[in-house]
Amino acid sequence: MSSNCRICENSESLTHYRVAEKMMGSGDAFDYFQCPVCGCLQISDIPDNLSDYYAGGYYSYRRMKRLEHAPLRRWGDTHRVSAGLGEKDFIGAFFNAIAKPLEYLPWVIDGGVDRNARVLDVGCGQGRLLLRMALGGFRHLTGLDPFVEQDIHYANGVTVLKQDMPTLAATGQQFDFIMLHHSLEHMPAQAEALHAAAQLMAPGGVILLRIPLSDSYAWEHYRENWVQLDAPRHLYLHSRRSVAILAKQCGLQIDKVIDDSSKFQFTGSELYRQGIALNTSKRDRKIFSKAQLRKFSQHAEQLNAEGHGDQAAFYLRATEQ
Ligand SMILES: [Zn+2]
Repeated sequence: MSSNCRICENSESLTHYRVAEKMMGSGDAFDYFQCPVCGCLQISDIPDNLSDYYAGGYYSYRRMKRLEHAPLRRWGDTHRVSAGLGEKDFIGAFFNAIAKPLEYLPWVIDGGVDRNARVLDVGCGQGRLLLRMALGGFRHLTGLDPFVEQDIHYANGVTVLKQDMPTLAATGQQFDFIMLHHSLEHMPAQAEALHAAAQLMAPGGVILLRIPLSDSYAWEHYRENWVQLDAPRHLYLHSRRSVAILAKQCGLQIDKVIDDSSKFQFTGSELYRQGIALNTSKRDRKIFSKAQLRKFSQHAEQLNAEGHGDQAAFYLRATEQ
């Protein structure tokens, strides 16, 4: 059993937890420990059979193909991105005001990138987010996912490579905007992964790192039933402090942190507390009242404002020399 924090190397006063796999409801249990120095919660031993715990969660390729050519949506989204990026675009501003938010708009705004940016999405699955960004007018879109069947070349130029970051970094390619949406916590070697991301980052570029966080109300409150602990798939549940330590090791610094937790931290964790596996088809609405769901959303917003949400978006840049 590992007895050293794999982020800061501290070996003193680690607190151990026995955590059951709960998404599939297999009940298999795993040892995790939290480091009191950096706050990182991590699995003690990385299981050899991790792939057994990933059961076909991918969106179908056919569903993705529908996003390749969607002229009406392309028209609307292009206007919306223009308005979001500060151009005078009344059509876009109108749709941004009345329609469901474009998921990626806050990320590109906070990252300070425009439509010419070379974008890399790490752990992109079939490339859903990249296909959506293509509809908004982004031109240089590449995805990485070691678990797709093979490389995918969409007709609109979006490419998904069956690769990991160190392999791509070895080619010398660089990107202006590298996104890791809830993928880093699945990777066994954290410093190696982030170091590769730093190598892939072009001068002046930015890394968007979105991960679950253990210095959160949800971990404090739910402990082994915290839905985002997700044993054994989540190998690392970082704290804001351990992200800063890891970033520093890789020549990066945190430019900005934006908590983006949602009501899921409550709905998912409450289900686990009641012993209900997440993979059951029961919908939130059958279990929680409308008033409860509203309360959960409000609580999430409050935690985000206080910096205690159970996940956040970190914007990382190269350390200033
Ligand atoms: Zn530590």
